[in-house]
Amino acid sequence: AVTRLREAGLLRTQGLIGGKWVDAYDGKTIKVQNPATGELITDVACMGKKEATDAISSAQSTFNTWSKITSKERSKYLRKWYDLILAHKDDLALLITLEQGKPLKEALGEITYGADFLEFFAEEAKRVYGDVIPPPATDRRLLVFKQPVGVVGAITPWNFPLAMITRKVGPALAAGCTVVVKPSEYTPLTALAAAELALQAGVPPGALNVIMGNASDIGDTLLESTQVRKLTFTGSTAVGKKLMAGSAKTVKKISLELGGNAPCIIFDDTDIDVAVKGSLATKFRNTGQTCVCANRILVQEGIYEKFTNAFLKAVQKLHVGNGLEEGVDQGPLINEAAVEKVEKFIKDATSKGAEIILGGKRHSLGMTFYEPTVIGNVNNEMLICREEVFGPVAPLLPFKTEEDAIRIANDTNAGLAAYIFTQSISRSWRVSEALEYGIVGVNEGLISTEVAPFGGFKESGLGREGSKYGIQEFVELKYVCFGNM
Ligand code: ADP
Repeated sequence: AVTRLREAGLLRTQGLIGGKWVDAYDGKTIKVQNPATGELITDVACMGKKEATDAISSAQSTFNTWSKITSKERSKYLRKWYDLILAHKDDLALLITLEQGKPLKEALGEITYGADFLEFFAEEAKRVYGDVIPPPATDRRLLVFKQPVGVVGAITPWNFPLAMITRKVGPALAAGCTVVVKPSEYTPLTALAAAELALQAGVPPGALNVIMGNASDIGDTLLESTQVRKLTFTGSTAVGKKLMAGSAKTVKKISLELGGNAPCIIFDDTDIDVAVKGSLATKFRNTGQTCVCANRILVQEGIYEKFTNAFLKAVQKLHVGNGLEEGVDQGPLINEAAVEKVEKFIKDATSKGAEIILGGKRHSLGMTFYEPTVIGNVNNEMLICREEVFGPVAPLLPFKTEEDAIRIANDTNAGLAAYIFTQSISRSWRVSEALEYGIVGVNEGLISTEVAPFGGFKESGLGREGSKYGIQEFVELKYVCFGNM
């Protein structure tokens, strides 16, 4: 597989600065490993402050030209990049499965999803409209311009190695910004391959730079730079808070997509097949490693037993294995620390009265494989309901009334995605409005799409990604007043 990727020119191991592939200046490297096998895929450049400084300078000088060409031209480059990603979708999916572990069919899904952001923002580039405001005096004319914010720093996580990059870089480039991307050190290869295709698409040298290595050194350099005018981040709430504090020094614009604690509420009046399908999809996608994965499944008492049995049957069918193998539904967790976190949460829950209904231990395949797990009699005070488990564990919480469900669902500092399953139209409206979440799935477990705004309430973040709102995060408003006309 690695040879195939190398021959396709998509196994890049150096950083990309100013359109040139470069090693770390001190020659340092880091290992990228396959989480399913522990095998070394390749070493990549391990960069830090110096490389980050150069990447920022190159983005700054390219900004002067990239922001001045027409939006139609920028749109064409993005569209070409989209076409190239789709043309190489099998190789890119292979790369994602190799370095991240998700099953190949999910990796292919991510390629389409990730590429769709480029297509969407190629179109949206042409629609960054300003305004003409009716003036308060007859001799005045008031205008609103929208201008690109400047150089953007983008820090991305490992769970969606392609999509979290295109969701940021697509709108940034469309708006006329240039970007320095720092992908996760666990999954830099997909980012580098995508950048190679951007170069092939004609995106000018310096418009997109990719550096990885020492996360806090690169992060600090981005934060301290007065040239970086915007920081966009997806990752943990803890790191997000640090970056938010660090942005204060230069008053950067920031967008943050942080952790969730998604409730998935199953009401008595639900269609059980729809609820099982939806909750299974949102819980076990990517081995439970997405920030919109159901973290708590709240089940109304009248349907608790029936739902639990049906859900259990569905979970038992999940096939665990190396994502490259045929028919696999669930791959490994990203690393040992992720498994230890799952173990800690389960231990806490069982010590407080939860019962393991299915799984609850490491998988016989070893490595970081974990059994698809269902635990019952969970309550909202357990660790597993306070924080994201980010693993294949479905905790079931019984509840009595709609009011109870809303109270439990909102009793958290997070507010990214929530799901409800009910056949009542009025309840759908009522509960959707009452949930303190940025995204609500009603009778639907898979809600992510490039055409809708993605983002959270409370500590789940700031700003929205995707949709017509997503590009607004990368423009400044300028009010221009013509007087004495
Ligand atoms: P996750 O739990 O998803 O790995 P992290 O927040 O640790 O979440 O990682 C998300 C991204 O943030 C990664 O690219 C990681 O390298 C980066 N990161 C981690 N620590 C810092 C930091 N101090 N400054 C800047 N980026 C960081």
